[in-house]
Amino acid sequence: MISKSKKRLALLLIFMMVFSFTGCKGSTESTAEKKGLYVPGTYTGVSDGNHGKIEVEVTVTANEITEIKIISQSEAAGVSDIAFEKIPQKIIESQSLGIDVMSGATYSSEGILAAVTDALTKAGADIEALKNVPVVKAAEENIEKTADVVIIGAGGAGLSAAISAHQNGASVLVLEKMSRVGGNTIISGAAYNAVDPERQSAQNIEDSIEKHFTQTYEGGDKLGNPELIQTLVENAYPTLQWLEGLGMEFKPEVYTVLGGLWPRAHAPAKPLGTGFIETYMSYIEKNSDKIEVMVNTEAVEIIMENGKAVGVKAKGENGEVVAMANKGVIIASGGFANNPEMREEYNKNWPSLANIKSTNHSGATGDGITMAKALGANLVGMEWIQLLPMGDPETGSLSGNIEQGVENRIFVNLDGNRFVDEGARRDVMTKALMEQKEQSMWVILDKHSYPTGDIKNHFNESIDELVAAGRAFKGETLEDLAAQIGVDPANLVSAVEAFNTHVDNKSPDAFGRTLYQDKIDQGPFYAGKRVPTVHHTMGGVQIDVSGHVIDTAGNVIPGLYAAGEVTGGIHGANRLGGNALADINVFGRIAGANAALQK
Ligand code: ADP
Repeated sequence: MISKSKKRLALLLIFMMVFSFTGCKGSTESTAEKKGLYVPGTYTGVSDGNHGKIEVEVTVTANEITEIKIISQSEAAGVSDIAFEKIPQKIIESQSLGIDVMSGATYSSEGILAAVTDALTKAGADIEALKNVPVVKAAEENIEKTADVVIIGAGGAGLSAAISAHQNGASVLVLEKMSRVGGNTIISGAAYNAVDPERQSAQNIEDSIEKHFTQTYEGGDKLGNPELIQTLVENAYPTLQWLEGLGMEFKPEVYTVLGGLWPRAHAPAKPLGTGFIETYMSYIEKNSDKIEVMVNTEAVEIIMENGKAVGVKAKGENGEVVAMANKGVIIASGGFANNPEMREEYNKNWPSLANIKSTNHSGATGDGITMAKALGANLVGMEWIQLLPMGDPETGSLSGNIEQGVENRIFVNLDGNRFVDEGARRDVMTKALMEQKEQSMWVILDKHSYPTGDIKNHFNESIDELVAAGRAFKGETLEDLAAQIGVDPANLVSAVEAFNTHVDNKSPDAFGRTLYQDKIDQGPFYAGKRVPTVHHTMGGVQIDVSGHVIDTAGNVIPGLYAAGEVTGGIHGANRLGGNALADINVFGRIAGANAALQK
């Protein structure tokens, strides 16, 4: 089953890519005359991407763009690879600048188009005219396919389900609406909670399955389903070992992730969620005779026959896709944090979220919830929407977050005063932040978190880079730092001093904080600004411990499974930090196996 889409996916895993296309060899910039559309020659063009400069080299003859080379770029690995592959190809194919951006890689697509525009401007091109040249469209093609298991969504839940279904003997077809795989999983902080006998005992951390259960249940205000929580906490570690068996690497030490309440978070060795997605995709590549992933394929309806889910209808790249399932359909399409209308429809617990940004990728629009609801699936906990106090002020994303772990940093408001227990639940911290001036705060930490400037945060950004980009501030003293970020130095100094006294005696402070490690007492000191951002939707489709979707009458919908953020009922009113990656892998693996084993 080697398909075109699969070959494209192989390319998704290649990180630094240099694409060049047919035509004349690059020459140096030309001083020749413009006789047609361009002055022939090779021109460099530069633009700002999402994470830094994008530099291209464009070669033109008098009337043709013949070659586009990506000279340098530092966009997120895995996320924007498809744009670097496709956009130059499309420009050359159509001889046009009117190319649509790639879904899931919007900023990078725009950055590439802008850099090529810059180069073509130097070549004397009429840019407006080039934007209006019609883009070559592929011929319409309707596709029908059959597999044992059809999965909607190629994030962590969908891809772990695909592997598990295959390991249980099934052929698998995964439909992904974006032009890249990975969903939110690939851009997440990727902390994975599990009670880990080896790593935690090496760090002298006391923990137990019961403690993980209680913190998850109580941390969700006892609104989660205890059976589902038990399944999560019991299977978190065996599933982590299953991932390691597939080649996934975690760092040797566990830590406390924001809102995780306990040091049981495992950090992948690779940045963000790229390690997870690479692990799944390398298994899928090796088993490409039995597992196919189709990108740019948006599921729109689950096909039912005699009350059983038997397939999925989707909008493909060039026509309709009908994917029939011999055994089962798994919905793994993620949450709805990036669907403002749906947020407003269900939100009961926050002020309007209309103007709050999101950490999520643009495909997190709750499609699976809508499709399942249309079949009579029961929805649970839809009003529980998680915000984080850690959004980038410009984009809402988590990137640029300087914290390295909960214990070693404090939050201060724009007056330089602390206002909350920084080890508290995510909802508690965000509610407190929403009451501060401009709903903004500074994360403050010191050399303990960054012994050297080249040390990176969880988003693969070094503190030096963040400071150079103006996204973080560095001061040799707290007074110096306060002056740079415009907070009252006396307030900042006394907030830090008060915090340090509690680090000594590890006693709860006035805000109830109990998680401490090092004092904030060694320069350089750092600050990073953060705002509230919509992060996760706890509610969704009701499932049982086998991953079956449950209808409004409490019955299993035959042939229909769901896993990951599309489901509801596990995290109750509040999801603990670090429980999402465990959830999507545990339940993805369960749903995949059960769908494969369905008669
Ligand atoms: P999870 O953490 O539950 O795996 P992710 O956000 O990581 O969630 O992945 C969900 C994936 O599902 C994303 O890649 C998203 O683009 C995809 N998706 C969402 N809606 C659809 C749809 N209608 N058809 C196909 N894929 C979809």
